[in-house]
Amino acid sequence: MEKNVSQDIQKENEEYILKIENVNKKYKITNKSYFQALYSINVTFKKGELVSIIGESGSGKSTLMNLIGGLDSDFEGNIIACGKNLNTLSDKELDKYRKDNVGFVFQSFNLISHLSILDNVTLALTLSNISEKEKVRRATEMLKLVGLSSQIKKKPTQLSGGQKQRVAIARALINNPDIIIADEPTGALDTTTTLQILKILKEIADSGKLVIMVTHSEKVAAISSRVVEISDGRITSDHPNKNYDKNKLNLSEEEIEFLKSNTNEIDEEYSKDDNIIEEKSPKKTRKLKQNLSYLSAIRLSFHNMWASKIKNFLMAFGVAIGIGSLLLMLCFSSGITDYISNTMENYSNPKIATIKSRSEGNSLNTFTEEDIATLTNEINNYLAENNSDFEVDENENLYYGFEVITMTANLTATISYDLNDDGDITQDEYLNITYLYTTPPYYNEDNLWEDGEMSTADGGIMVSPAIVEFFGDIYSIGKTVTLTINVNTDISSGTQTPSSRQSPIVLYEPITAIVDTSVMSMFPVVYIDYKHLAAEYSRLTGGETLSPTTLYIRTPDSETTDLINKYIATRNDLTGSIEESLAGMFNEMMDTIGTSLIIISMISLVVSAIMILVVMYMSVTERTKEIGVLKSIGARKKDIKRIFTSESFLVGLLSGICGLIFGGILYLIVYLVLINLIGIAPLSFKWYYIFIALGVSTVISILSGLWPASKAARLDPVEALRRE
Ligand code: ADP
Ligand code: MG
Repeated sequence: MEKNVSQDIQKENEEYILKIENVNKKYKITNKSYFQALYSINVTFKKGELVSIIGESGSGKSTLMNLIGGLDSDFEGNIIACGKNLNTLSDKELDKYRKDNVGFVFQSFNLISHLSILDNVTLALTLSNISEKEKVRRATEMLKLVGLSSQIKKKPTQLSGGQKQRVAIARALINNPDIIIADEPTGALDTTTTLQILKILKEIADSGKLVIMVTHSEKVAAISSRVVEISDGRITSDHPNKNYDKNKLNLSEEEIEFLKSNTNEIDEEYSKDDNIIEEKSPKKTRKLKQNLSYLSAIRLSFHNMWASKIKNFLMAFGVAIGIGSLLLMLCFSSGITDYISNTMENYSNPKIATIKSRSEGNSLNTFTEEDIATLTNEINNYLAENNSDFEVDENENLYYGFEVITMTANLTATISYDLNDDGDITQDEYLNITYLYTTPPYYNEDNLWEDGEMSTADGGIMVSPAIVEFFGDIYSIGKTVTLTINVNTDISSGTQTPSSRQSPIVLYEPITAIVDTSVMSMFPVVYIDYKHLAAEYSRLTGGETLSPTTLYIRTPDSETTDLINKYIATRNDLTGSIEESLAGMFNEMMDTIGTSLIIISMISLVVSAIMILVVMYMSVTERTKEIGVLKSIGARKKDIKRIFTSESFLVGLLSGICGLIFGGILYLIVYLVLINLIGIAPLSFKWYYIFIALGVSTVISILSGLWPASKAARLDPVEALRRE
C-alpha cells in the first residue's frame, strides 16, 4: 500500500509539465518602492489538465499568467516548464519558449486588425522559417478545427467576439505548444459563445495539453478539472473537480439545448466531429528554425503599409520632393556639362590651335612682334621634341586675332544704329558688346577659315542673334551700323599703360551675316576681320599697328592641334580660345549652381529623413499592442526590428518611385520653361539616375527607420499588451 502511494507520487512528478516553486513577483513602483503581486507561489500542473484560476480582480492572476507564458521574466523563484527553468533562460531562449512551448489566448483577443484571419494564424508560423504552402495548409487545418474554415479571408473586424477568440485559439495552437494559457478568454463573450470557447479549450486539454485559464465565472470554473484560487497574491485553495468528465462538458440540459440551437455559427465539419482536435492534432514536428525571413517581414510590412496607405503615400510624396529635386539636379548638372562640351566640339575647328595671353585682372594683354617670335620658337621646339613634323611659320600658318571679352579688359565696344534717322543716337539705339571677335575659326560650316576666306574679309561685321533681337525688326543684313571701340589701354604697344588717346575708334560697317553657332550666342557679339580692323586702326591712329590679343595656328590635323594645346597648358601665362576659358567660367558657375542645388536637395532629404523618422516612430506607438502580440507568440527582438526595417525599406522604395515620377514632372516643367525662355534646355537624363534615386531614398529611409525599429524591438511585451 505504502509502496503504491510513493509510486503515484513518483508518477506525478514525472508527469508534471509545469512546476512553480516559491515564486515571488514584485513590481517596481518607483526607484525605492515595490508592489508585491505574488507571494511564494508553489503549484504543479500536469498534461491534460484544464485548470481554472479564479480570484478577485487585482489578485495577481494575470501576473502569474505572464510569468508562466514567459512574457515577464522578472521574478524570484523557479518556474520549470517543459523541462526549462524560465528563470535561467536567455532572452533568445525565452522567445523560443514562447514560440514553441506556450500558446497565449487573451481576453481582448489581440488579433492584428490589418491582417486576414489566415494571416493572423500563419503569423506565428511566419516566425518559423517554413514554406508558405505548408504554413497555409497548417493554418487552414487549425482554423477548421476551431470551426472557422470558411472565414479565413475575412479581417478580424468582420468577425463576432466568439469567432475572434476562436481565431486567437487557433493562433495559440498553431505551433503545437504543450501549455495553453488563456487569460479570461470568455470575459468579453456572451453565454453561447462562452460555451463554444470552453468546449474547444476542453478538447485541447483532453488532447493531452495543459490548459490554464483565468476566469471570473463560477460556471466556467465548474467545467474544469481543477480550480485554483488566488487571493492577494497567494494561492488560497487548489481543488480537483470531482465531477469533471473527460468526455463531456458539464452543462445543464438547458445550456446544451441553447448551444445546439446556435451551431449555425460553427462550420459543419466542426459540429460533426467532437473529438476532431484529438484526431487531427498536428504530429510533433521537428523543432522549427526560429527565424522570420526577410520575405515574410516585407509581406507583413506591406500589409501594414496598405492598412495606412494614405499616411504612407503622403509621406512618400514628401520624400519624393527631395528625391525629385535631387534627380533634377543631376540632370541639370550633366546637361550643362554635355551642352558645353557639345558646343565646344561642334564649333571649334579641330585644325586651329588658339593661343591667348592670360589676362590678369582688368587688363588687355596683347602680343608684340618679339613675343610672337619667341613663342613661335618655343612651340616649334616643343613640337620637335614630340616628333612632330609640323612647324609654326608666321608667313604660312600663323594668324592674328583680336578677341576681347569686354568685361575683363580695359576696353568697351558699342554697336549703334540711328533707328529714327535723326543723326542723333539715343540710349535705345546702341548696345554694349560683350565680345569682340576677329577671325571666327569656330564659325565654320563651310570651312571658311580653311579656304582662307572670311565673310568679313572685305569689310563688314557679323553679329550674334542677341544684337538682332536688340535692334528689332527694322534691323536686317546689309544695314550699316556704327561700331565704336573705346580703349583705355594702349593696344599698339602690348603694355598696359593707360593710353593718352581720348578719342575712340569709330567704324562704319555693314552687317554681313548673323552668327548663331557659338556658346556666346545669347550675348551681344561682333565678328570683324582682323586685317580689316588692323587697317582701319592704322588709318584712324595715323599709322600705328594693332597688336593681336590672340594667335591662331592652322594645323594639318587635330593631333597637332592637341599637341600645341598641351604645350599651352604647360604655360601659366597663356591660355586657349575664349570658348575654352568661357567653358571654364561656365563650369565654375555651374559648380556654384550645382553646389546650391546639392545643398537644397540635401536639406530636403534631411527633412524627408526626419519625416520618415517621425512617421515610423508614430507607427511604433500606434502598433505597440501588435508588437506585444508578436512578442507573445515568440517574435524575437531581431524579428520586430526586421519588420520595421522592412517597412522603412518599402517606404523608401515607394518614395523613390514617387520621386522618379515627381522628378519627371519637374524635368518637363523646367525643360519647357527654359526652352521658352532662353531657347535651350541643358538637361540630360542618364538611366543610372534611376538607381541613384531609388538607392538614396531607400538608404535614407532605412537609416531613419533604425531608431524607431530598435525602440519597437525593446518594448516590454506585458506593458505593450496592456496598452489600449
Ligand atoms: P488580476 O488578478 O486582476 O489579473 P493582475 O495580475 O493584473 O491582477 O495585478 C495584480 C496586482 O499587481 C494588482 O494590484 C495590480 O495593480 C498590480 N500590477 C499589475 N501590473 C503592474 C505593474 N506593471 N506595475 C505595478 N503594479 C502592477
Ligand atoms: Mg487580469
